[in-house]
Amino acid sequence: MISQSSGQPVFRFAPSPNGHLHLGHALSALYTWNRAQETGGRFLLRLEDIDLARCSDAFVRDMLEDLEWLGLQWEEPVRRQSLHFDDYRSVLDRLDALGVLYPCFATRQEIRTAVAAIEDHPADPDGAPVYPGLAKALTPDRRDFLISQGKPYARRIDMAKAVHMARLKNSGPVCFVEQASGPNDETGVVQTQPLAWGDVILARKDIPASYHIAVVHDDALQGVTDVTRGQDLFYATSVHRVLQTLLGMPAPVYEHHHLIRDETGRRLSKSARDKSLRSLRAEGHTRADIVGLVGLDVD
Ligand code: GLU
Repeated sequence: MISQSSGQPVFRFAPSPNGHLHLGHALSALYTWNRAQETGGRFLLRLEDIDLARCSDAFVRDMLEDLEWLGLQWEEPVRRQSLHFDDYRSVLDRLDALGVLYPCFATRQEIRTAVAAIEDHPADPDGAPVYPGLAKALTPDRRDFLISQGKPYARRIDMAKAVHMARLKNSGPVCFVEQASGPNDETGVVQTQPLAWGDVILARKDIPASYHIAVVHDDALQGVTDVTRGQDLFYATSVHRVLQTLLGMPAPVYEHHHLIRDETGRRLSKSARDKSLRSLRAEGHTRADIVGLVGLDVD
């Protein structure tokens, strides 16, 4: 069921402090701010910092300063996901109780080898090979044994089973409302395609959570009604809607905005060391320049 809230809209900008903000983030932040302003909605900032090895306090500090410089004002306290691993653990326990999780002990190398042996192995919407299901057939005894031996494992969702349960719960296919558009112009009521992702990881070996778990939990907890984010996350919405359905969480409406690309059509990213907002500021660019550069009409 897709529920639309009738109260005050709640928006969030949810960056990961694992690098400096670049123009792509500025677009997302200003887009979200704009939508909150024009609808009289609330604007939340959430720090998605579960990856402790890559996120840092220094990046958080710089990020907050950049966002203030952009003129954004958010509600306090800011939710910082790294302080809430217990919440994510209990969501995982609920999914486990539904029987849709299984431990996966396979190493990256084992997965690579298995995939290489399969002709025309499918890729997920991000272009990564779909997990070939190595650990799915282990017996419960074998799983318990490996866990008792201290062998590290990730927790994966049995997507086919999860989709089946979600369809039953929903009395039909799981959908979402897209108010802007996806990469292939998907808009309006969109039917999810979660099987394209396969059995994704919901708790990593090194981190007792994942982006998917943290985002659905926090959006529900914070009463987020409108998820505004880049089109790179459009297809991940399928996973989120399945989880929300299984967990009885309300469905926000979604607005996936265009991405900023460089002259060669490549998407901006922190890892590629694209120009940070800080360096643009240092070069003397103003907030109005940034608004112009991201192609938004913002006051
Ligand atoms: N933390 C994610 C990112 O920085 C955004 C998550 C979301 O908006 O759902 O790409």
